[in-house]
Amino acid sequence: MPEVKDDQYWMQMALEYADKAEAENEIPVGAVVVKNGEMIAAGWNRSITCHDPSAHAEMIAIREAGKVVENYRLVDCTLYVTLEPCPMCAGLLVHSRLSRVVFGAKDAKTGAAGSIMNLLQHEQLNHQLEITAGVLEEICGEKLSAFFRRRRKEIKAAKKLKNGST
Ligand SMILES: [Zn+2]
Repeated sequence: MPEVKDDQYWMQMALEYADKAEAENEIPVGAVVVKNGEMIAAGWNRSITCHDPSAHAEMIAIREAGKVVENYRLVDCTLYVTLEPCPMCAGLLVHSRLSRVVFGAKDAKTGAAGSIMNLLQHEQLNHQLEITAGVLEEICGEKLSAFFRRRRKEIKAAKKLKNGST
């Protein structure tokens, strides 16, 4: 039976790219761009690796998608991302004229798709995107929580080692 390529299917794909970020010790966020039922680009968080504060998963995926369609407008495209976009990425998504954004976990600290602000549907901007929130939310959120738990543990262990205590 062919797999149904629904929102959950593509979010699962974005989660696989989040794993690539995690393998590089980056905060595990992944993104894919889909057009006409096909994935045309993907990205994962690479800020630390690239020494680039703008190297968020969405940013990388959108840049790649633009090259693929040879257009700076990504009309009729949907972005799937495991974490709610930040204001920087939300701005990019408006510029790119994406039709729709689907995200997994909410980001209470920097989320710009409804959590701290809603840049994607700001009335005074010239383009608004359709938003679907909370697809595979628990899996996306748990991946991030587990990452931060592990990192806190590692930092604690490193401090102990440095202080010579056991
Ligand atoms: Zn971002």
